[in-house]
Amino acid sequence: MATINNNYLKLKAGYLFPEIARRVNAFAQANPDAPIIRLGIGDVTEPLPLACRAAMTQAVDDMGDRDKFKGYGPEQGYAWLREAIATNDFQARGCDIDPSEIFISDGSKCDCGNILDIFGHDNTIAVTDPVYPVYVDTNVMAGNTGDANDKGEYGGLVYLPITAANDFTAQIPTQKVDLIYLCFPNNPTGAVATKAHLTAWVNYAKQHGSIIFFDAAYEAFITDPSLPRSIYEIEGARDCAIEFRSFSKNAGFTGTRCALTVVPKTLTAKAADGSDVELWKLWNRRQSTKFNGVSYIVQRGAEAVYSPEGKAQVKELIAFYMENAKIIRQELTAAGLEVHGGVNAPYVWVKTPAGLSSWDFFDKLLTNCHVVGTPGSGFGAAGEGYFRISAFNSRINVEEAMKRITAKFKG
Ligand SMILES: *Cc1c(COP(=O)(O)O)cnc(C)c1O
Repeated sequence: MATINNNYLKLKAGYLFPEIARRVNAFAQANPDAPIIRLGIGDVTEPLPLACRAAMTQAVDDMGDRDKFKGYGPEQGYAWLREAIATNDFQARGCDIDPSEIFISDGSKCDCGNILDIFGHDNTIAVTDPVYPVYVDTNVMAGNTGDANDKGEYGGLVYLPITAANDFTAQIPTQKVDLIYLCFPNNPTGAVATKAHLTAWVNYAKQHGSIIFFDAAYEAFITDPSLPRSIYEIEGARDCAIEFRSFSKNAGFTGTRCALTVVPKTLTAKAADGSDVELWKLWNRRQSTKFNGVSYIVQRGAEAVYSPEGKAQVKELIAFYMENAKIIRQELTAAGLEVHGGVNAPYVWVKTPAGLSSWDFFDKLLTNCHVVGTPGSGFGAAGEGYFRISAFNSRINVEEAMKRITAKFKG
């Protein structure tokens, strides 16, 4: 008789987004004329930059030309894309990253989960609370956790609360952990890490032989030039960090799919016999076996992000979303709400008024303003009493939603 991976039975049924959909559908059915605006999504809304589309169109033509046609590409990604990334994203910011240390993939979500393939099951793993749920669920699937308790916390994971008291950046743990997930700029809180904060993490990791998984999916939204965009801007990070990046949020590739993971060749972890093994070799082996690369067409589209036109168009896209974020912050503040994030990130983290729970505030916004956001408690117990508003939307929707909220909450 075939058996299953029983770890899947420990997963809490995907609760957050299905529950949002259930409540929105029920409301829409009862109020068919209510013009609902969704500011809950973590997906981009604006079209792909022209430079990327032009490069992809050209790449389609290449595929129709016998001399330029491409079959299987390198599992690690084409060298021209890895070189453009190394030069523009890393070396230009003083990060000592070589193109050979970059692995192109079809998504950071996939890479964040797949990376566990090359790590043991005896690691102590730390995540923040609230957290991007992928980090937790992939550890559950891999068998790295126990069961969930009533609060949805899994046995065996170390939860690091991120709250207003610590500026929404986790306190460095006092106990030893082996793997640490960090996401800056943060989804869902919109918080960022200073150089000093990341330095403290790197020093901690080096002291304990830990590995940091650094999710920089939102680095393009950093507007403050003093903030690090890559963990490799911190001295010593080559010895303790893997960085995940994506074209999803900067260039709108959520539906096109292209991302990258950096595994420095200097990074090692322990084998059972006590020897140090290079993680680059393991990840390269893993990808060469289980992955066959991102399509040539999409990689050409991603390469165009680094052309002069591509850079200008991506900058404009980011500026558009960040203007949305600014409007959201301004209007909610004017309405008397306490807001965090939204300055170097596309997410605004709102304190619910009058001690309302995250879900009560969700219902109130939906019923009174016909606006949908994301309850903070859905990202973890410490997110209770908060609410995530996304800047990924059209200007007209953002302005209309803010008008309705201000009218309801002001005075
Ligand atoms: C959107 C997002 C990503 C990007 O995922 P892709 O699979 O590359 O689209 C990664 N991490 C976080 C926290 C995100 O919100």
